[in-house]
Amino acid sequence: MSITSDRPAAVPEPGLIDAVWTDGSGGFTGVEPTAAWAEEVRRLARARNATLLAHNYDLPAIQDVADHVGDSLALSRIAAEVDSDEIVFCGVHFMAETAKILSPDKRVLIPDARAGCSLADSITADDLRAWKAEYPDAVVVSYVNTTAEVKGLTDICCTSSNAVDVVASIDPDRDVLFLPDQFLGAHVKRETGRDNIHIWAGECHVHAGINGDELTAKANSHPDADLFIHPECGCATSALYLAGEGAVPDDRVKILSTGGMIDAARQTGAKQVLVATEIGMLHQLRKAAPGIDFQAVNDRASCPYMKMITPAALLRALREGKDEVFVADDVAERARKSVERMIAIGNPGSGE
Ligand code: SF4
Repeated sequence: MSITSDRPAAVPEPGLIDAVWTDGSGGFTGVEPTAAWAEEVRRLARARNATLLAHNYDLPAIQDVADHVGDSLALSRIAAEVDSDEIVFCGVHFMAETAKILSPDKRVLIPDARAGCSLADSITADDLRAWKAEYPDAVVVSYVNTTAEVKGLTDICCTSSNAVDVVASIDPDRDVLFLPDQFLGAHVKRETGRDNIHIWAGECHVHAGINGDELTAKANSHPDADLFIHPECGCATSALYLAGEGAVPDDRVKILSTGGMIDAARQTGAKQVLVATEIGMLHQLRKAAPGIDFQAVNDRASCPYMKMITPAALLRALREGKDEVFVADDVAERARKSVERMIAIGNPGSGE
């Protein structure tokens, strides 16, 4: 997949702010998210007839300037529905690809195409071809955190909300290849009780770093708090173990997708919630339920790829029409079918 554009970018009017960005190993920097920056971003988006989508893990300033904030699948579905020429997807590369797969006729930009994902990168299309050759009759189930090429080799996609339902819908006599996240795979195996599910040993380095010891210490020092745990986390198994042992009451442990966390925040009666996922999530949770004290289980759980979507990168995307995301037609068509099969099963819920 290439990221260079063969179409001229729309030429915006001269900017309201004199911003000069610099490019470095951490991405584009040098622009502060001031009120003038936000005004310029909105003006350029209007001029380009672009919709700005921001993921829950983005920097707060990016979330606040966007038209829509959410999880990866919900944003991709919004991308397909909105009436605009362009989508600027403030997230990591596989998310922008998913938006392109579901909106093939729109121009999709990502502010920095170098924003990857350690989980999506843990399995390549060649890895999957080789794995499928070992189990030629197996059904391939892929979490949405995968590249377009891997989705194109997948039978059914899943999200963290519906992974259990998707696997449960498959003939119990068929082997299942589940990828790429081992923690989500372990959760699905536990919930479905299937022993013919083979799990790829991939992980997200950010979520895997939120470990059971930290969760146990934090839960013990905040005995009245609810625990919101993303199933990609290294501590998800520990959370269920703590509940099973009675160390934390069962009803306080909630294994949730990022979208599910927002719904749960509005419904919980708890005054304090410990959150195990990427720390960008805290911004939307605090907006959704300002009366609740949300605390990160691990406040170093920050995704360096998501943080490459900087104010400078977004300004550059809108001024220069870069970086455009392309997915080959045949790959997109096969990938779209795997997403549509998931939606047909129902409860597509939310992606990461
Ligand atoms: S938090 Fe992990 S899974 Fe999410 S984008 Fe970053 S590296 Fe990928």
